[in-house]
Formats: sequence, structure tokens, C-alpha cells
Amino acid sequence: MPEEREVLELDAVIVGGGPAGLACAYRLQELIDAHNEDVAAGKKEGPDLSEAMIAVLEKGANVGDHVLSGAVMDPRGLKELIPDYEAQGCPGIDCSSDDVVLLTEGKSVKFPGFAVPKWLHNVGNRIVSINRLVKWLGEKVEEKGAQVFPEFPAADLLIDGEKVLGVRTGDKGVDKDGERKPNYEPGMDVQAKVTILAEGTRGSLTKKLVKRFALDDGKNPQVYATGVKEVWKVPGCDAKSRGRVVHTMGWPLARDEFGGGWVYFMGEDLVSVGFVTGLDCADPATDPHAKFQRFKTHPYVKELLAGGEMLRYGAKTIPEGGWWSRPQSYVDGCLIVGDAGSNLNPARLKGIHTAIKTGMLAAETAFEALVKGDASKATLGGYEDRVSGSWVKDELYAVRNVHQAFDKGMPWAFLDLGLQMITGGRGFKDKYAAEAGHERMRKVAEVKSSAEKPKFDGELTFDKLTDVYNSGTTHEEDQPCHLVVTVDPNHCSTTCAEEYGNPCQHFCPAAVYEMEPAPERDDGREKLKINGSNCVHCKTCDIMDPYQAIEWVTPEGGGGPVYTDL
Ligand code: SF4
Repeated sequence: MPEEREVLELDAVIVGGGPAGLACAYRLQELIDAHNEDVAAGKKEGPDLSEAMIAVLEKGANVGDHVLSGAVMDPRGLKELIPDYEAQGCPGIDCSSDDVVLLTEGKSVKFPGFAVPKWLHNVGNRIVSINRLVKWLGEKVEEKGAQVFPEFPAADLLIDGEKVLGVRTGDKGVDKDGERKPNYEPGMDVQAKVTILAEGTRGSLTKKLVKRFALDDGKNPQVYATGVKEVWKVPGCDAKSRGRVVHTMGWPLARDEFGGGWVYFMGEDLVSVGFVTGLDCADPATDPHAKFQRFKTHPYVKELLAGGEMLRYGAKTIPEGGWWSRPQSYVDGCLIVGDAGSNLNPARLKGIHTAIKTGMLAAETAFEALVKGDASKATLGGYEDRVSGSWVKDELYAVRNVHQAFDKGMPWAFLDLGLQMITGGRGFKDKYAAEAGHERMRKVAEVKSSAEKPKFDGELTFDKLTDVYNSGTTHEEDQPCHLVVTVDPNHCSTTCAEEYGNPCQHFCPAAVYEMEPAPERDDGREKLKINGSNCVHCKTCDIMDPYQAIEWVTPEGGGGPVYTDL
């Protein structure tokens, strides 16, 4: 007998309390309020939406705990959502200057301004801690009257035939063997006329939806990078550098590797320092955390952090595929927005503004569906028309081939990007193909690994466990592992160990995966140990496992990092 679950009926449920989801909730509530006022004043006819209920479900213990970004935000999206955002106390400071620097081993060369692609100019943008920004936006949403429910992970989709009916939230109080504990509470069925997936990068429900409805047919596969960052306190740095933005290219990446570094001076003597490593690399020993730690040892970067102290750590994947990787973002009853829908601009390394804007466009579409009483594809398909008619398409289409240009390595990429700039993003042909990152990974026998692990000194460089401690990550220990290995565990000890050298122990930036001695085996091989409570929810493993045998699912609500100032 199916278990009886509480049912909550809403007009719109939004999965994910990041910039896209919160912008969507804010705009939808605003449209509903304006509609109700106009109907009440007799200015227009329409259904009574005065009882309409909108809720945002957020898996973190607090809104903002699980979001992570560099971040330099183009304020365009926020300006459209809340025109007086500064007067309303939106956190962040203006970017005062920006540099792009090429690093080689031990040396650095600053690009002259004219040689910097316009995508990388940042004066006029805003340096933000995305945790602070999202917490502030969450307050604005609640002031508008929409509900925000933290500690509610959406664990599954409710689908009837071709229609999404809502989501089921995760059960609470289940032990590591799947048995019910005394505090067991089954998850709720949250039914809604419109469901909006705003889960961010590699959303677990978005992944299911895309697969179930083949929404990626004819699209490029999504390609990802992993961003690893720390926030430092560097006393006195504000006086010289407040508002300064530095991006780096080159070292410690090999010529055929995609990525780069950043150092942002955020005010309050805080410095955001981070490194992006493309997950479309051949070397199975690639370790984004190690690359970041090495990056900080470069004299140029070390100097910027001199006298400082590391305060916070976090990691997150970045969907870099851009326009050609956007799945069809609507089905009956459901829309996909923000990073979950590949709306990040990979050339500008920016996705907060497009997340906000796509959230707003989804809100307008959902509002139309509520007024018409029709949330079928016929109405929700209007979301794509809205995206195509907006600056989101202008921006993404102009850089549609940028990430793919790096597939042949750095020198070629510069030539290609030059041509793309002249041809409005076309380059050598209109649509460059892409390959999923895990398919580019080569077996250990086929590559000479260049992945070097730095020595961690505990002052400038830190091991993964120290960094995880500074991410504030905790999970209930006695719960089913939320990193589900879908193959026989022996596969890890044998096939994967031989072919790829167990890359999960390298690419995870939180030391979740370890190969440990297995005295019970008679072949002397090691076995995989999963330290799930370290997981910072970056999703690298779900993306990068060469056999696609790791599935990230939502843990019990509230578990995960507690990011602050990141
Ligand atoms: Fe990221 Fe997976 Fe490691 Fe969690 S287990 S931190 S999602 S790579």
C-alpha cells in the first residue's frame, strides 16, 4: 500500500531558493498582487487570485546557505526586479577597476585594456557575496507575501502521464539502512498548478525531467567546470584595492585545460579568491581543489593575500555550455530557470543576472497560466518565446561558441575567439559541437598525468578537510548515503581502479571519496569509502564519474554547507 502523505496544494511551487527561484517568486507575487488590485478596482476582468499561494522550497537550513559564486554580478537583472535595490539595502559594492593577468610559472603579465575581450570588463558591475545577496532577496520575497520553506529538499517529481503535478519532499528520520527512526516523517506531496525548477547547477530533479521528456534532444550536452573558492580577511587591503577585480589565465593549467582564477576585493577587508577548473579534461587525476591551492602559491596571487587569513571555503560546479546546451525548458506544468536551464553566460563567467531574468520571465509565464487556468505546454511554451525576445538570448547567443573554442587548447582558442568577436559569435561555423566532460576523460594508461598535489602549509594552502571545516558543512550521520553508487561496489575496486585510478578521490573537492584497505578481500585491493557528511553539494561527482555511476540525491533537509560571505 502506498504510504499516506500530507498533500499541500499550491498555485506555484518553486524548487530552489537561489537567485532564479527567489526572483521568480518575487515577480510572480508582484504580478498577482497587481492583478488582484486591478480586478478589485474594476480596471480589468479576470479570475480572483487573492488566495493564490506561492512557495519556494529550499534544501538548506537557511536561504543562502547552499549558494556559491565568485561573484561579480551584472546588476541588470536585479535592476529590473527591484529597481531601487540599493536603497533597499542590497549587499555588495561597485567594481572600481579590473585586470586580466596571464600567469606562467612564477611570472605574470597584465593584458593591456584594449586586448581584454569586452566580456571580461567589470567596471559598472557589482562585487557580491551571493550568500548575503540571496539572504537579502529571500527577505524581500517574504515581505512580498510569498512563502519560503528552508529545510525542504524536493526529492522527486510528481508526474502524471505527460504532466508535472508538483514535487515530493524528502522523508525525515530514516536511518543509514533505510529503516524508520522514532522521528520519522514522510515527505509531503506538494501539488501545484505550475512547478518551477530553479535548482541551480546539475539539479537532480531537472536531470530527471530532462531525461524523462528527452528535453535535450538535438542540444549540445552540458559542459561543466568546478569553481573552488575561499574568502580571506586581508587587513588593510580595502585602502588600496576595495572594488578591484582580477581574473587570471594560464598557470597552473596545462595548455589544453580550460579554466582560470580570480581575486575580488569585496570590501570590509574581505577577499574572494578562487579557481575554475574545466571538467572536460583528459586527465583522470585532475583535482580542482589542488589546482586552486597551487594557484594561490603563484607569487602574483600570494602577494595579494599577504598578511591575510582564510575564513571560508566552498565549491560548486558551473554549467558552461551556454546557448546550445539549453534544454527545452517547459513541459506541461513545469518550467526550468537559471543555471538549471543552462542560462549562464560562459564568456562573462556570469549567471546571477540571467538567473534573475529567467526567473522573472518564468514568473510572467506562470502568471499567464494561472490567469488562463491553463498550465499546459501551449501556455508554458511562452517562456521560451519570452527568453528568445529578451536580452538573455542576445547575450547567450553572442557567445554561443565560446566554451567550445577551448576544446583545442589555449593558442587556438585565442584565434577562434578573435574570429567569433568579429563574426557576432559565429566563428568558423554557426554551431560548434560539444562533448560531455566525462567522455573526454582518458584512461590512466592513455595520459601522462600533469596533476600535481601541492604540499599544504596551513597558512596559504589547506588540505580538503581543513577547507571542508571552513565550509560549515554538516549532515545527519545516520541517514541513507545521498551519493548513490549505481554499480556493484566491486567495480570501484577493480574496473575503475585499473582503468581510471578511481578519479572520484581526486575530483571531489571535499574528500568525500577515499580508497581504503579492504582486509576482507583476498586480492589485496582497496575498497571505496564514502564520507557523505563532508559533501558540499558541488555535484562534480554526479557529472564527472567516467561511468556515470554516481548519483547525487537530496540528503535530509538542512544538511550540507552553511556558506557565509562566499
Ligand atoms: Fe561535490 Fe560529489 Fe564531493 Fe559532494 S561528493 S562535494 S557533490 S564531488
